[in-house]
Amino acid sequence: MAILTLKDIGKIYVSKNNVAVGIRGVNLSFERGEFVAITGKSGSGKSTLLNVISGIDTYEEGELLIEGESTSHYTQEDFETYREKYISFIFQDYNIMESCTVLQNVELALLHIKDPKERKKQALALLDRVGMTSHLHHKASKLSGGQKQRTVIARALAKNSPIILADEPTGNLDSTTSQEIMALLKEVSQDKLLIVVTHNFEEVEAYATRHIRIFDGAIEFDHQLKTFERVDTPINNDQPNIPKTQTTLKNSFLLGKIMVTSRPKLSIFMALFLIIGLLALYFVVALMYEPLTSGFEKSYMFTPTNGRVVLTNKNGKALTDEKLAELARNTKATDYLHYDKLLDEYYMLANPYNLYDDHQSITVVNPIEIEYTYLEIAKVGKKIKGRYPEKKTEVFLYLPISVKSYFELENLYKIGSKIALSGVSNYEIVGYKFFYDNNKVAKAVLTKEGFEELNAAQYLLSNSDVQLSFDVEMVDQNGKTANFTYQNIKPTNSLEDDKIYVSDKAYNEALTNLGSSLGQINLNLTANYYERSYYNYQGIDDIYYASQTFDQTNLEESLNSNENVVDGSTIYISTTSFAKIATEILQNSYHQASLFYKNNSEAKKAIKELNELGYIAVLSNTTYARGLDEMIVYTILSIIVLIMFALLIIFLAFFINLCTSRTLIAFKDDIAIMRSMGIRGKEIRLAMYARMFLCLIPAYVVLFILALVIYLNPVTNHYFTFLYPWHYLLIILGMLLMTFRITQKQTKKLYKMSVKEQLKGDNL
Ligand code: ADP
Ligand code: MG
Repeated sequence: MAILTLKDIGKIYVSKNNVAVGIRGVNLSFERGEFVAITGKSGSGKSTLLNVISGIDTYEEGELLIEGESTSHYTQEDFETYREKYISFIFQDYNIMESCTVLQNVELALLHIKDPKERKKQALALLDRVGMTSHLHHKASKLSGGQKQRTVIARALAKNSPIILADEPTGNLDSTTSQEIMALLKEVSQDKLLIVVTHNFEEVEAYATRHIRIFDGAIEFDHQLKTFERVDTPINNDQPNIPKTQTTLKNSFLLGKIMVTSRPKLSIFMALFLIIGLLALYFVVALMYEPLTSGFEKSYMFTPTNGRVVLTNKNGKALTDEKLAELARNTKATDYLHYDKLLDEYYMLANPYNLYDDHQSITVVNPIEIEYTYLEIAKVGKKIKGRYPEKKTEVFLYLPISVKSYFELENLYKIGSKIALSGVSNYEIVGYKFFYDNNKVAKAVLTKEGFEELNAAQYLLSNSDVQLSFDVEMVDQNGKTANFTYQNIKPTNSLEDDKIYVSDKAYNEALTNLGSSLGQINLNLTANYYERSYYNYQGIDDIYYASQTFDQTNLEESLNSNENVVDGSTIYISTTSFAKIATEILQNSYHQASLFYKNNSEAKKAIKELNELGYIAVLSNTTYARGLDEMIVYTILSIIVLIMFALLIIFLAFFINLCTSRTLIAFKDDIAIMRSMGIRGKEIRLAMYARMFLCLIPAYVVLFILALVIYLNPVTNHYFTFLYPWHYLLIILGMLLMTFRITQKQTKKLYKMSVKEQLKGDNL
């Protein structure tokens, strides 16, 4: 049976101002084994005939039969399958993938072979057959016309299709080369149907078995020249192997890779634009994230800690330690803390530089906002420098990496140095750890005992109801008295308990004047609603002139930077002594306590019990409700930011589209060639995505490295909102979606054109 039969086929071209006849009333039938030469004047319809035969172009009249089967119902996709299975094309202007190597050009036609090694082996064999072994890795654009045509023939053979169509394959070649090419074609197409269009019949005369001449779109004559060995076996459905769907993705990736590697400059250009695009997206997200979300950030009543319950007595009475211990036992708390106010407050970590401002010109770094916690509930993680606190006067610092520079450079916060924590001096740093997440707040980790003492001292220092002053009254044996009042009282760690340290010249003078006649010293603590004598010192031994007993420099270093120390107004006592004084006041006025449970769900159960027992208990992550007016303002602000965000994204998409659509033009010809080679549209389309994806990879790598550099570097860490992995995932996916959407649009545009429109020149 004839492999191809054309019945009364007619094709007309309708353009704006004229109608041209391509071919008309063509009745032909072809067999495998034939070498058909088609001749005719330019414009007579030779190319049109080949296009119709290959299904590249549509026709209006008649019918095309493939192995006796009608194609009238064929869709474009059906024709793709047909081309894939039956047709190999050879063109006058070669239609070789100029940017690819000789080997790549042939390999592309061998995509149906799964194993890349086998694919290469066959490509090499084919190239050997057409005599191109010495040019395997040459770019096609660098080849001579004859070499290009040889490569194209190898490519045509690669498909092992039963039909080879050649449209003026020697049109651009000199006569010797033309002869060689025709001989080659004859040699390689023994069992195939070979249809060659030529303007020069003599060059095929020696090989052709049949000569068809076309005139004005119609068959002028159709001569049998020679007998030929007819091949009649039906085309096996598996021959050539039609790519299985499972390999489509792999093939597409390979095609995409070839698209990328065959045009390195273009790919670099493209990758650069994508890098710019992705970084722009990243900066937009990193900059906008805070204004976008801050309006909706929860404001917590307490520092949220998993498993922490904050409670108070419903009747308004202060809690006692005993009662608290009992509640903790009964509700199976893992821990409890009576004086817990400090857990929920932020302080500025003293910036030691300020102390030297008068003497030295040092750039003052912003003080660090810090929250307090203690060892049992602190979550700091492993890999620390130094150790955790063991004594109540020791502190462990958990600090943002942005402070590393002055922490380490100036050696001010090093292990062993002393710092002040919210007005209490002389804590020794025993360890520290830096963190990179600049959304987090720094922490000072104490022992629980140290925490409680600091809390008590802090409460006393910051409570406006309690004003402290120490009156020192000295009486000598003759009844002569000297009085000193100290308004500035400094709790200081590492001082001996129950001793008073005074830095006071006047006192020193009085002491000298009184000499050995000194009789009695009284110290009184006065609070404006609370008055009581705490210490009644009988001897001079308990009072120290500060400069004689401890290192003044060291002390000043450990003072809170925000307060100016004026010599003569300050009295120093130990933190423990101070806490002792505070505790009595606390016991009468402190209404809050914290209980700790394994986790929040355990805590919730306990809250029920506590409520029944007459306490008001809430989870530490309880938030303040927002007012309606506040909500409205935040919503409007967020909408504005969101609109700006959307506009920026649209702008970005526009920019990427603009830049990449230019690169697409370069692939127009390649895609057309691939299509004419019978590579499936689906594979080519997917290859476009694969190409985009491959070009995106450098952008992802750059983003990854940039993010690392930004956040690992103490200097830059501070300036960019720390983004979490899911943010990056969103950025990566967002970019992928954006570029894929662009690819989709661009590819669609390409596919609106037919293969014929895409291919350059009008010889097709
Ligand atoms: P040949 O290959 O023999 O030189 P073609 O098959 O290319 O001839 O052209 C046959 C006729 O169809 C010519 O008159 C040509 O002008 C016309 N034709 C070919 N392609 C188109 C087209 N895309 N649009 C309009 N007319 C066309
Ligand atoms: Mg032509």
